[in-house]
Amino acid sequence: MTALSPARRAALRAMGSLALLLTAPQIAFGAAIVAVRMWPARDYTRVTIESDTALAASHLLLDGPQRLVVDIDGLELHDTLRQLVGQVRPDDPYVAGVRVGQFQPRVVRLVFDLKQPVRPQQFALAPVAAYQHRLVFDLYPVEEMDPLLALIREKEAAEDQATRAVQEALDELIARVDRLPEPAPPPAPPTLPPPPAPMLQTPAPPPPPAPPTPTERRRVERLIIVALDPGHGGEDPGAIGPTGLREKDVVLAIGLALRDRLNAVPGLRVMMTRSGDYFVPLGERVRKARRVQADLFVSIHADAFVRRSARGASVYALSTRGASSAAARWMAERENEADAVGGVNIANVSDSVVLRAMADMSTTAQINDSLRLGAEMLRHIGGVGRLHKRQVEQANFAVLRAPDIPSILVETAFISNPEEERLLRSPAFRAKLVDALATGIRRHFARHPPMLRHRQL
Ligand SMILES: [Zn+2]
Repeated sequence: MTALSPARRAALRAMGSLALLLTAPQIAFGAAIVAVRMWPARDYTRVTIESDTALAASHLLLDGPQRLVVDIDGLELHDTLRQLVGQVRPDDPYVAGVRVGQFQPRVVRLVFDLKQPVRPQQFALAPVAAYQHRLVFDLYPVEEMDPLLALIREKEAAEDQATRAVQEALDELIARVDRLPEPAPPPAPPTLPPPPAPMLQTPAPPPPPAPPTPTERRRVERLIIVALDPGHGGEDPGAIGPTGLREKDVVLAIGLALRDRLNAVPGLRVMMTRSGDYFVPLGERVRKARRVQADLFVSIHADAFVRRSARGASVYALSTRGASSAAARWMAERENEADAVGGVNIANVSDSVVLRAMADMSTTAQINDSLRLGAEMLRHIGGVGRLHKRQVEQANFAVLRAPDIPSILVETAFISNPEEERLLRSPAFRAKLVDALATGIRRHFARHPPMLRHRQL
C-alpha cells in the first residue's frame, strides 16, 4: 500500500466535507435520475434510465432463476429509480419483476427477474430532443421465431377463429329456431344443416417454433403480404398536437384498424412493423418487410409542420437524387431523425449501410411502382379530407429504402394544425381514413397484381 501524499490527503478531506454538504440524494454523487421508462413488446423489452449526467453501468446474467443484474456506479438509491418496480407490466414477455437496492455505498443494483432467457444489449445515448442522458437496456429473446412462419400461423389461427365464429352463429340460430313456438304445421322438410363439428376449446397459447409443414410452405408463396408501418413509438413520440395528441398513438390506432380491414381480404396478410408502443429503428422496419418479402410497404404518419396553418394529407415516395420540394426534403430530414430520438444501439446499424448501397444501385423500378401506388392512395384519401399536395412527393426517407418493395409514406394529416388534430382524435374520421387506405391498397393490387414471390420457410 502506498502512503498518501499530503496534497492527495488534503483533496480527499475536501471531497469528504463536500459529500457531507450534499445530503440530498438527488445530487449525492453527481448524477440525478430524471426518469425511468419500460417499453415491453414481443420483439424486445426496453428499459431506459434518464439522468442529468452520463451513468456508468455494467450488467451480468444469472441462472436459476434467470436474472439480469445491472450495477450503476456512483449513484445513491433514489425514489425515481424505485419507480421501475411499478412499471413492470404483467404482459411483459421478458420481465417478471424488478428489484432495486443500494448494493454498495456507491453502487445501485437493479435485478430484473426474467420470464425467459434474454440477450441483453446495453448502450448509452447522448442528450437529444427533449431527452437528457439515457442509459438503455434492450432485452431480446435468445431464439426468435421466423417472421414468415409467425405470419402464416397467425393467419391459420385467424381462419380457425373465423370458422368457429360461423359455427357458433349457426349453433345459435339453430337453438333459436328450436325455441320458437311451433307455427301451424307447414309440411316443410327438415332443412337443418348437418350436426356441428366438434367445437374447439379456447384458443391455444402461441405454438412453439415448430418446423413448417408442407402446407405452410405452399401457402406462404401464394400470400400477398402488406407491411404496415406505424411511425415512431416508444421513446419517440413523433409530433405532438396543440392539445397533446401524440403522433405515435394516432398512427398506431390507424395502423391496427387498417390491419384488421386488410386481413379480412382473402389471400392477404398484414405484417406490422410495430403493433404496440415501442420503438423500432428505421432500418429495422425495412428489414422486417424484406424478411417476409412484403409486396407493399406503407408507412403511416401524422406530422407537424413549421407553419401551424399547414393542413391536408400527402403521400411520399423515395427519391435517391434530391427532393421534389423543399418541404418534402424538410419532412424526410425530420422523419430520418426518428432513430436519434427513439434510441438506436449503434453497434447494430451496420446493415443499414448495406441497405443504402443496394438502394443506390437500382431503385428505379421500386420508385415507379411506389409512385403508381401513391397516386392510387391520393385518389382515395382525397375523398376523406383535403390534400396538402395533389401529386406524390419524393424525398430521401430512410424508411422507404427497401430496393425491392414498393414503399410509400402517408402523412394522414398535420397534427400541428388544431383542426386536423381534432379530426385525428375522432374515431369517425380515422375510420374513413382507414377505408380510403384499404381501398387504395386493394385497387393497386387489382391493377398491378404482385409478382410471384419465392418465399422460403
Ligand atoms: Zn412521423
